Amino acid sequence: MRLDSYADAGVHVAIDLVNRLVVQQDGGERLDTLARILAVDPGSVNQVRDEHVPGFVALGEQLHSVVADLARGDDDAAATRLNAMLSAHPAHPRLAKEDGRWRMHHHPSDAPPVQMWTSICAEALGRLLAAGHGHRVGVCSDPNCGRAYVDTSRNHTRRFCSTTCQNRAKTAALRQRRRNALLAAESSERDRHRS
Ligand SMILES: [Zn+2]
Repeated sequence: MRLDSYADAGVHVAIDLVNRLVVQQDGGERLDTLARILAVDPGSVNQVRDEHVPGFVALGEQLHSVVADLARGDDDAAATRLNAMLSAHPAHPRLAKEDGRWRMHHHPSDAPPVQMWTSICAEALGRLLAAGHGHRVGVCSDPNCGRAYVDTSRNHTRRFCSTTCQNRAKTAALRQRRRNALLAAESSERDRHRS
């Protein structure tokens, strides 16, 4: 799956807002976390202040619901939520020159940061859904994790948010198999003694 870099940024920022502001709140200053999430757009990083943090947390919560809908294959529910977000903060196509090159932006030039990123994230996830890729948004299979991810693998085999969670699950499964084998060996040993 390939998206243009702008739409890509919207999807990745959406996933980051969900993971770092909602699911697994970073220990540090939330404004620093927010600045790291928005690093893709230096203009936004310059603009965000402490007063914007609650708005971005609320956006993260809305996106968390969209991610949960997509992860369980409920595109209809996700579309309803995305439409509500786009009605509140419509995307306005507009050409903007960046580093000498014209790029398509999808928000009004004077939109405050939360509104701007609401339309960018909602439009990016909407495009993903409309392109039939909604099922590529997932929630980590580790039940203790809950972080979201976008599966960009060719054969759509991703199940975990990170290799850390994947390896932890593999190790746990291996340990469980060993434990089961040990229990089976012990019980057959007991049976032998009884007979
Ligand atoms: Zn995980």
